[in-house]
Amino acid sequence: MSRSVPIDWTARAADGLAAGLDGRALIGGRRQAAQDGQTFLKRSPVDGRALGEVARGQAADVDAAVRAARAAFVDGRWAARPPAARKRVMQAFAEKVLAAREELALLETLDMGKPIAHSLAVDVPSTARTLAWYGEAVDKVYGEIAPTGPSALALISREPVGVVGAIVPWNYPMIMAAWKLGPALAAGNSVVLKPSEKSPYTALRLAELALDAGLPPGVFNVVPGYGPEAGEALARHMDVDVLGFTGSTRVGKHMLVCAGQSNLKRVYNELGGKSAFLVFPDAPDLDRCAQTLAGSIFFNQGESCNAPSRVLVQADIAEDFARRVAAEAPKYRPADPLDPSTVMGALVDEGQLRTVLGYIEAGRAEGAHCLAGGRQARAETGGVYVEPTVFAGAHNGMRIAREEIFGPVVTLIPFRDEAEALALANDSPYGLQASVWTGGLDRAHRVARALQAGTVHVNQYDEDDLTVPFGGVKQSGNGRDKSLHAFDKVTELKTTWIRLG
Ligand code: NAD
Repeated sequence: MSRSVPIDWTARAADGLAAGLDGRALIGGRRQAAQDGQTFLKRSPVDGRALGEVARGQAADVDAAVRAARAAFVDGRWAARPPAARKRVMQAFAEKVLAAREELALLETLDMGKPIAHSLAVDVPSTARTLAWYGEAVDKVYGEIAPTGPSALALISREPVGVVGAIVPWNYPMIMAAWKLGPALAAGNSVVLKPSEKSPYTALRLAELALDAGLPPGVFNVVPGYGPEAGEALARHMDVDVLGFTGSTRVGKHMLVCAGQSNLKRVYNELGGKSAFLVFPDAPDLDRCAQTLAGSIFFNQGESCNAPSRVLVQADIAEDFARRVAAEAPKYRPADPLDPSTVMGALVDEGQLRTVLGYIEAGRAEGAHCLAGGRQARAETGGVYVEPTVFAGAHNGMRIAREEIFGPVVTLIPFRDEAEALALANDSPYGLQASVWTGGLDRAHRVARALQAGTVHVNQYDEDDLTVPFGGVKQSGNGRDKSLHAFDKVTELKTTWIRLG
């Protein structure tokens, strides 16, 4: 008989917390407290309960982690292994992640509030797949021989850079970490990861699982702590070769300053977005379009860098389309993240709640029409929730059209014609993703070409695959996570000239 008893996640959470969560750093293969003993209290946005004390890493802890990472790199315990051997460890790491599926999913949900169904179906499998995919790829990446003259041979090879620092946000804590870890580790680097102070637990468990899978100690280190403390120390460290940063544009800019004022480490920034979603009257199916929009902007409580938060819709269909989107919103009513039927969970913390409610206030004050949502929800639980919110009749100058809200709020703006749609879409400091909905092949290609974005979708928004690069233009950053291109960030190209006598 197959097991069909549903898991009681609330009871699981209580058991897990009674046993205690380990918030200590993992450096050189060992769990350890911060050197000065400081910790910070991590609360769950699900209901405000305390999850535990987490090590508040400082410069000394980051330095210890970087030293451990450098030592591991220099002695070749990982980098010098044949790619096929690294592949096996990466695959074992991925299997450990899958085997710990329920534990990791619960930690992710308690830590940052997303629905348990999504943690299980999206975050854990995607993390495992990323690790396995880069492991699988690394013994299939070849060097080059340059087409030079006959008297010499020029070999172009890829070498791991050495120590990769990774600083990641809280919205997809494991997936963002895996996008950095996959290519960096597979290529032979050592890594120091600084997770967000708002979601430290899964990163620490990932590092333990990596050790269990056979990754040598020191190769993957995790230092939790606050951005301006542990994060800044990593960004300014003189012995970090590459910094992979995912987070806000404001902090991404600061990462470039830190690199410039320290050792000129290479910085790859994956930053914020205000992705435009263009709807033309000849869109093939306005209902599917509205459903796709709602599914994308409200997924993960709207806390997705690529959320289509700015909708440009042709004026003749604007009212009709807004009604269809508003009708979708109640389907995403926030509910208990530990209930497997929940599709919208909690925002990450009180600060984020204030930010989102502040934007909703600003939208109303600036004259946009709030067609759905617009209020805090479930306050009685002690958690932080907000209703899925739809604004229509906005214009591109409003704050809710220009600034990244990072919550379940979508802004609809009418346009007259294609030229105006493109001008509005590109009138943004961001350029992460965009989408165009039209039945015309010519228009689809024309608009896709003209949109300033790292990724453009046509008549859909949800396609995604590890095989394609993910990243933005303009102030959405300069990096590309995912795909084989991610190896470019964590490897150096080396040329070796050999004289042919
Ligand atoms: P954030 O910039 O506040 O923090 C990101 C990370 O940087 C955290 O680990 C934080 O502790 C650290 N940090 C903060 N200040 C720092 C400092 N002075 N020095 C070093 N590190 C510092 O962003 P967030 O609120 O955690 O995440 C949300 C942002 O991330 C949004 O803007 C979102 O669009 C973006 N994001 C982008 C992508 C992408 O791939 N482009 C993916 C996910 C999230």
